[in-house]
Amino acid sequence: MRPEILNPLFRPVTSLDGVGPKIAVALARLVGSADSDAPRVVDLLFHLPVALIDRRKQPGIALSPEGAIVTLKVRVDRHQKPPRGNRRIPYRVYCHDETGEIALTFFHANDTWLEKTLPVGETRYVSGRVEWFGGRPTMVHPDHIVAEADFASLPLIEPVYPMTAGLARRTLARIIDEAVDCLPVLQEWLDPALVAKETWPDFVSAIRTAHRPAAQRDLDPASPHLTRLAYDELLASQLALALLRFHHRKSSGKRWRGDGRLKSKILRALPFRLTTSQHQALAEIEADLASPERMLRLLQGDVGSGKTVVALLAAATVIEAGAQAALMAPTELLARQHARTIAPIAKAADVRVAILTGREKGREREAILAGVKAGTINLVVGTHALFQAGVDFRALALVIVDEQHRFGVHQRLALTAKGAATEVLVMTATPIPRTLVLTYYGDMDVSRLAEKPAGRRPIETRALPLERLDEVVGRIRSAIASGAKVYWVCPLVEESEMLDVAAAEDRFAALTEALGPVVGLVHGRMKSADRDRAMQRFVAGETPVLVATTVIEVGVDVSDATIIVIEHAERFGLAQLHQLRGRVGRSERPSVCLLLYKKPLGAFARDRLAIMRETEDGFRIAEEDLRLRGGGEILGTRQSGTPGFRIARAEIHAGLMEVARDDAQLIVERDPGLAGARGEALRNLLYLFGRDGAIRLLRSG
Ligand code: ADP
Ligand code: MG
Repeated sequence: MRPEILNPLFRPVTSLDGVGPKIAVALARLVGSADSDAPRVVDLLFHLPVALIDRRKQPGIALSPEGAIVTLKVRVDRHQKPPRGNRRIPYRVYCHDETGEIALTFFHANDTWLEKTLPVGETRYVSGRVEWFGGRPTMVHPDHIVAEADFASLPLIEPVYPMTAGLARRTLARIIDEAVDCLPVLQEWLDPALVAKETWPDFVSAIRTAHRPAAQRDLDPASPHLTRLAYDELLASQLALALLRFHHRKSSGKRWRGDGRLKSKILRALPFRLTTSQHQALAEIEADLASPERMLRLLQGDVGSGKTVVALLAAATVIEAGAQAALMAPTELLARQHARTIAPIAKAADVRVAILTGREKGREREAILAGVKAGTINLVVGTHALFQAGVDFRALALVIVDEQHRFGVHQRLALTAKGAATEVLVMTATPIPRTLVLTYYGDMDVSRLAEKPAGRRPIETRALPLERLDEVVGRIRSAIASGAKVYWVCPLVEESEMLDVAAAEDRFAALTEALGPVVGLVHGRMKSADRDRAMQRFVAGETPVLVATTVIEVGVDVSDATIIVIEHAERFGLAQLHQLRGRVGRSERPSVCLLLYKKPLGAFARDRLAIMRETEDGFRIAEEDLRLRGGGEILGTRQSGTPGFRIARAEIHAGLMEVARDDAQLIVERDPGLAGARGEALRNLLYLFGRDGAIRLLRSG
């Protein structure tokens, strides 16, 4: 059970003043993780400002520099309303101080409100940006207007948060400010010696300083309070992983050894031979299965490196030994894709496979559940629906988790928390630099598929300025005429999914006009059924051009797609470009990746595009990505953060990761049940950072 002291933080955001369902939806877009639908107060605490507005300057009207944000103490002289019916002329309120006169300018103003807010003859503080036109200063829509007596309520230093559509800047700031006030006093969970040595503030003060910065330096990720929060986040993650490992590794006493009968049938049914890395990975997995210790292994391999086949062969081992296996994918689409890859081979080897997602219903579902329970189904492929109540296995021995590009080990703790003595294989298509494997996966054993299957052709990667778009469209026209399939990826627009969608819709319209009705569209705001349908039309070749937002990043496999165009490639991070490019080059046919960029290119963007042209090695790209970020590249919050973390950043806090890991190991060695005084405080930490899956683990013993 969650400690009661944390309850105020785990209420839904709608419990805060002025947060209704509509704002809650906007907040969910901003801070909600994919797994929790309605954001809670605690989620707002980790949404940190990226800049601040300094309103401390009070130079007087005449001395206000052009374009500067200032605060002015003025007397209101007169209101000049726009002529009736002419909405294009603004409403002006003239004010003065001892240095001069200024016009406060309002478009589409509400007369009544203005008369109330700026009464003639009264003194007001106004704060906003001053602009000069023809020697006259004006302030368009002041950010703040307060009476003389209320000066204290004027935020002289205002945090600026990453935004989303449908939420005003000040509304967001006010809501977060309220969330910060919900923080209770918490016991210190860090080692006091470490806190003293680093001169870190306590958690609550650190959060307060983060949201109520007093100066620019308070936004520096290396400042003591932000470093402390980063460490807290890292420790929560490492502690959860250490607990997972501690409780998972306990011997199940079971040794899974196959007789090779299914394996050899599968190998015979494959239209290709395994690569050396596939053989190697499989040998490592088989050794784990054969030992009485439970397996906890990560299978890392670039998109298309052939992880699914390895997974199937691993499943074959436990099936030969009379048990069952489950393969869980992060989305329904991917679950079906795995099932499609596996089905023909499994059939040839008499392995009985079923698919189970939220979509299987009624009789069909019952039949599958019965088969799983009776053990007549050997391998179930599905989504998290696999591990909901009501799904009983006769003898589940191996769970294969396909993480794709999410870092979801933590979320999947629930699997093993069921207490079943399962072996666990996690597959990820995200190449992670060696130095970061620990951060994401803790002390897991790692197998890597470093080589691509034979016969794959290199992808021709070219960078072109956006001005040559027409040329690209021409090239696509002739390519589809000869049967090619083309992805067209639309840019990220700021921090808003809605704008992403708008950009994709525009491109869809333009390409349809240029190429005719051969263009499809998928984006993250479509219903999943519509998205599946659009994908199917692309797969079937009815619409050989598919315009997409980055949703196609996640593991979609259309092996005969050979061209990918990435628009505004300069806005994407390296890792993301690499994942996107991996959508093509999946067959023996030559593939092309066109990176369209907008001139002029910044130095980092140029580096990124150059690396993309130079190499297809995901591990190398991941290392370069880290290097560029270490060099200070900022791509906007969505990509610049270290995935899976809200505060900690690999390039800045790398040193802390090792400390956190050692700290976590020591904690688990001394108090694996988190039962002592510090253990209790650490439970709070796990809850705050959403790593409480590990606590369920403690209970199941
Ligand atoms: P991943 O899951 O790592 O992205 P898949 O397992 O889906 O990759 O494999 C991608 C494609 O490559 C599939 O069509 C698969 O059948 C094929 N493949 C896998 N291993 C080999 C191999 N050794 N040689 C040739 N093709 C392979
Ligand atoms: Mg795959």
